[in-house]
Amino acid sequence: MVVERGNDICSMLPAELEEYFAAEGEAEYRARQVFKWLRSGAASFGEMTNLPGKLRDKLAAQFRITAAEPVRSQISQRDGTAKYLWGMADGDCVESVVMKYSYGNTVCISTQAGCRMGCAFCASAIEGLSRNLTASEMEAQVLSSRRAFGADISHIVMMGIGEPLDNFDNVLRFLSLITHELGMNMSPRRVSLSTCGIIERIDNLAVHDVKLTLSVSLHAPDDETRSMLMPVNRAAGVDKLIEACSRYFEATGRRVSYEYALIDAVNDSPRQAHLLAEKLSGTGSHVNIILLNDVPERPLRASTPGNAAQFMRILKQKGVNYTVRRRLGADIEAACGQLRRKSEKQVIKP
Ligand code: SAH
Repeated sequence: MVVERGNDICSMLPAELEEYFAAEGEAEYRARQVFKWLRSGAASFGEMTNLPGKLRDKLAAQFRITAAEPVRSQISQRDGTAKYLWGMADGDCVESVVMKYSYGNTVCISTQAGCRMGCAFCASAIEGLSRNLTASEMEAQVLSSRRAFGADISHIVMMGIGEPLDNFDNVLRFLSLITHELGMNMSPRRVSLSTCGIIERIDNLAVHDVKLTLSVSLHAPDDETRSMLMPVNRAAGVDKLIEACSRYFEATGRRVSYEYALIDAVNDSPRQAHLLAEKLSGTGSHVNIILLNDVPERPLRASTPGNAAQFMRILKQKGVNYTVRRRLGADIEAACGQLRRKSEKQVIKP
């Protein structure tokens, strides 16, 4: 059966393109040619010069090519971090960020236009969810970022706008696209997915056995604080989340890491540091500590340096592995949680 993906040809995998071409009475190898063209920056079927003209016309009549059109970009004067605002075909906008690390360039992509998870500290949640992004819209962010940044991208993190596990099927398809040998051929080990912790989906991910790096935004070890910060916690709670992460580790052999943004007088007490250490003991998990980035609309502020140091001292004493994340792109509001779908739809032509 021909897999229907509407007219979104960029979300189709080579095997699905083969089915399509076979059903159309075309040679199977056209699938490989078209799949490759779509990743090489071809903006129209007319550019696919190794296809017969009639076939190009047929494809152009049936399909559209997904593009992330540059609307605006900002480059950090401090560290070279670049933030891009992309316009999608329907006028929705999303952001991606490219960061330079010693091991290569990392692009942080958005998985949804907006977000419905409602975390109390996050700018992306303010306007709610507009819609899910398609697999090709996620891949287009990587391809367009590479072009705009003018350098290769070695790592991809799904840590921009949106909750990837709330857009599960498209995210899995995106992973199949970018890891395909005819496409970007990314190793899944160079791909990270960050989630607010939707437990059933973490289990689903383990079943699919995609070897990506899973990172869970924990931000508090006790249910009272976590449920206040992250409504998703009300469904099951911290202990069940940590259990799901342990199951994920058992099933995939990949340890889960935790994100913890230190927030003044909310999640940075010595009691919470001890509780965090206790709950993670024996899991071998790594904790990424970050100081909360200010979001002007939010009443929450970063921990004081003294409290942050005390928190980390306790983690160290208790043998918890942690690193403090650098704040890249802070001068262009490209830091964690600052990405926000602005109402710039009017800038994009329909
Ligand atoms: N929805 C996913 C991925 C997007 S958020 C998730 O929740 O993980 C990416 C990361 O930025 C998450 O760890 C999130 O908790 C964090 N974050 C959001 N707002 C932040 C802020 N104001 N300061 C620091 N980190 C923030």
